[in-house]
Amino acid sequence: MPSQHLEGRLDEAQRTAAGDMPPAELRAALHEMADIVADYLEEVEDYAVLPPVKPGELTDRLAGPPPEEPEPLEVILRDLRSQVIPNVTHWQSPNNLAYFPSTASGIGILGEMISSGLNSNAFIWRVSPVGAELEAITIDWLRAGLGLPDEFDGVFNDTASISTLSGLACARQQATGDASQAGLRASPPLRIYISSQAHSSVERAAMILGIGRDGVRAIDVDKQLAMDPVALRAAIAEDRRNGWLPAGIVATIGTTSTTAIDPVDAIADVAADEGLWLHVDAAYAGPTALIPQMRRHFKGWERADSIVINPHKWMFTPFDCSLLLTRKMEMLRAALSLVPEYLRTYDGKDSGRDYSEYVPQLGRKARGIKMWMQLRYFGLAGLRARLQHHLDLAGELAARIDADPDAELLYPVPFGTVCFRMRPAHYAGREGEPAVAQAIDRLNEGVMNQLNGSGEVFLSHTRIAGVFVLRAAIGNLRTERRHIDRAWELLRDAAHELDREIA
Ligand code: PLP
Repeated sequence: MPSQHLEGRLDEAQRTAAGDMPPAELRAALHEMADIVADYLEEVEDYAVLPPVKPGELTDRLAGPPPEEPEPLEVILRDLRSQVIPNVTHWQSPNNLAYFPSTASGIGILGEMISSGLNSNAFIWRVSPVGAELEAITIDWLRAGLGLPDEFDGVFNDTASISTLSGLACARQQATGDASQAGLRASPPLRIYISSQAHSSVERAAMILGIGRDGVRAIDVDKQLAMDPVALRAAIAEDRRNGWLPAGIVATIGTTSTTAIDPVDAIADVAADEGLWLHVDAAYAGPTALIPQMRRHFKGWERADSIVINPHKWMFTPFDCSLLLTRKMEMLRAALSLVPEYLRTYDGKDSGRDYSEYVPQLGRKARGIKMWMQLRYFGLAGLRARLQHHLDLAGELAARIDADPDAELLYPVPFGTVCFRMRPAHYAGREGEPAVAQAIDRLNEGVMNQLNGSGEVFLSHTRIAGVFVLRAAIGNLRTERRHIDRAWELLRDAAHELDREIA
């Protein structure tokens, strides 16, 4: 807020003091912040999930000249409570069923807090020994918990986009021999294979890596939206005949739109036969492999060269944390490492691992600290129980939709995301008629907008083969059965009301 709202004025000495906030003031402020965060989480389900603001409205309220004069902390905290907290979209709300989940657990929040307190920048071992070693330890704990062989090692990145970029940098390196040195000047054009349902981060990685969007070939999918491995093999053969250099395949377990599962085992056969890098995108669904019975969906991923899983999606880790696993750490290093003189160490000791050699950037958060706290707090058993709860809730919602004559389950529900539409019974059997198809789409768009506008629940959508599909992604740590019951009641009521209006 502009400084004319200053309450207690700061004296001249406070205004011009050098140094940071005095420790006693920080201690008191941290206690107050603890109350702010705990109050927020206690009340989060009472907020409209989408804040009732229009684009630009907050700028009108909050912008002004830069704050030349320091402001008292109590004024800043007051404005934080009144202006910031109510105007975020509430990712922490149990009623947030849009996109994929991203919950910050209590223990994760504590992990973030100490990470900020330590402000560890974990680029080489010596600048964060415990950061580097906890990264290695927790990655090994996760690998073991996920049931992957012990030759997998890895790094934490900020996002799956960067993990996939790194995986594809390996694909490029392996295919060309030395693209990190020589670039792509002398190379035939590279190809990466994906399904038509792969996340856009793959194409973006190709843009950045000089492979280009034209270098990404989308393979057809079957009715369940899973990649067709026969078509994949044929596409690679055709590309080789036409002068392309096939480099890598990205298979997805849990696609973004409908959580489809590519047949990774069959795709791994193709990758092995063709000598291609296989990257598995399990950014969303990966955490469920902690549950042994869920591993049927992951068959063949143990044969991948690299895998991405996002703990910040469905493992209750505060944003950000993406895990890149690879069985070929040396390829990752060859693709990304560059050690200038000023990062070399000459203290006579063997260096520990310098993680910046395995990532695209230099500076990086010490994410191992919060992960170490979180894995110990929940235990693998605690994580499994919470994931299973979400899987159960999703299964129950899917069963309800399936049993309802006015709704339609559109895709299988292997994980926590339910893809469906409201389809009043009087339209049954006539969905193929263009006017009916349009009316059903309009109805579902209207239902979604009505619910999202109500603030009681936040849903997202996708469009598959022209059909408007509603998505309810269950995976928030705070979501209980009653929240899903209420969302379903709202959906049914809105659909009946809009159907009467449209018909
Ligand atoms: N892969 C899949 C399957 C996703 O659903 C997403 C995001 O939702 C991503 C990758 C990208 O994740 P990030 O935002 O961490 O880059």
